[in-house]
Amino acid sequence: DGPSDGSAGPDGVHAFLHVDADGALAAAEAADRAIAEGGPVSPLAGVPVALKDNLTTTDMPTTCASRILDGWRPPYDATVVARLRAAGLVPLGKTNLDEFAMGSSTENSAFGPTRNPWDLTRVPGGSGGGSSASVAAGEAPLALGSDTGGSIRQPGAVTGTVGVKPTYGTVSRYGLVAFSSSLDQIGPCARSVLDAALLHEVVGGHDRCDQTSVNAPLPPVVEAALAGARGDLAGVRVGVVGELSGEGYQPGVLAAFTDAVRTLGELGAEVVEVSCPSFSYALPAYYLIAPSEASSNLARFDAMRYGLRVGDDGERSTDEVMSLTREAGFGAEVKRRIMIGTHALSAGSYDALYGKAQKARTLIVRDFTAAFETCDVLVSPTTPTTAFAIGERVDDPLAMYLADLCTIPANLAGNAALSVPCGTSPDDGLPVGLQVMAPALADDRAYRVAAAYE
Ligand code: GLN
Repeated sequence: DGPSDGSAGPDGVHAFLHVDADGALAAAEAADRAIAEGGPVSPLAGVPVALKDNLTTTDMPTTCASRILDGWRPPYDATVVARLRAAGLVPLGKTNLDEFAMGSSTENSAFGPTRNPWDLTRVPGGSGGGSSASVAAGEAPLALGSDTGGSIRQPGAVTGTVGVKPTYGTVSRYGLVAFSSSLDQIGPCARSVLDAALLHEVVGGHDRCDQTSVNAPLPPVVEAALAGARGDLAGVRVGVVGELSGEGYQPGVLAAFTDAVRTLGELGAEVVEVSCPSFSYALPAYYLIAPSEASSNLARFDAMRYGLRVGDDGERSTDEVMSLTREAGFGAEVKRRIMIGTHALSAGSYDALYGKAQKARTLIVRDFTAAFETCDVLVSPTTPTTAFAIGERVDDPLAMYLADLCTIPANLAGNAALSVPCGTSPDDGLPVGLQVMAPALADDRAYRVAAAYE
């Protein structure tokens, strides 16, 4: 049992916004029956899974941790949710997030923050802090998140769990409430690399309901995780990205990362230094592109079609009701993004802001392409710091955005990346994540390396 009333739950973590105990029990019993009948069942049949609350579900609310969706019930399941159900997994409930997945700490939720199970005074990362914290706290063995700029990997790193951002387009976004459509990607959160791979194969693969879905076979990630678990990385070339470590990184994070790189070498990998000079543009480019797309995607919350409607007294105009609803329904960060995005897309600024960000994005893609000519995978710390204190960065958006420094390049380029736990920082005893990045459609390489390391 867990909270379905928005409380923090018995352990004070507040990973869930909604728990569907009855639904979960029924799904678990159905999976038991299928197993008893000896029919073909998925290896994960009967396993509970927590769902980030920006995935649509017909039998549970979908809030995106926003007031603006108050009372809305989606008429359809997200493709990933439908696939989970078909494979006999047990949806447990909906997990907390930064409102509309905008944030790096889960503090931007309209329903209160989630806390890091390692230290309840610290954030669990974001935006998918609820999903990662539910796995770290042992409340769910598996969870799904969405990663637009790091929201699966960054919370994974700071909660000591595995988080995967698959190649863009390889897991359907149908039923994921859109934030930044050219960056958004659903992926697994788990306690081990193999668990993540098993969930990845249940939800991944082509879907004709998503126009950006890649019509190619899903990389063999389970096979790769099993192969990696033998612990042999002979012949694998690992590139350490020079630009993603050094100044601004906590010494304890760098110490754990250096140890991890040494271990990869001991497992037989050939470790080389690589340079990706354009990665320095990733953060500013992302914080123009993501808000631009968000300003367009969030235009649908117009007080007419979904959830909340404020001030509709029969006297006010549609425009007045829309603006009163948005004023009351959106939190400060969402409003900030809509304003930045609208400005970046406006006629007078388009070339100088949005257009320039797209050029930077192309340079980042080229850096990846060049690096993958000499390396099979690239590695970096997943985050520059361990989990920070609740409240520490809420009034400083730029400090908050820095949490995504290492994760954003993979979203801009669309390639695969994951975070695997790499011990704790000697500074504060908190978990550190190792990021493994692979070319698009070579997710299996990242799984193999991470499983060998783990
Ligand atoms: N923290 C980043 C942001 O605020 C990434 C969010 C995400 O991946 N959903 O936009």
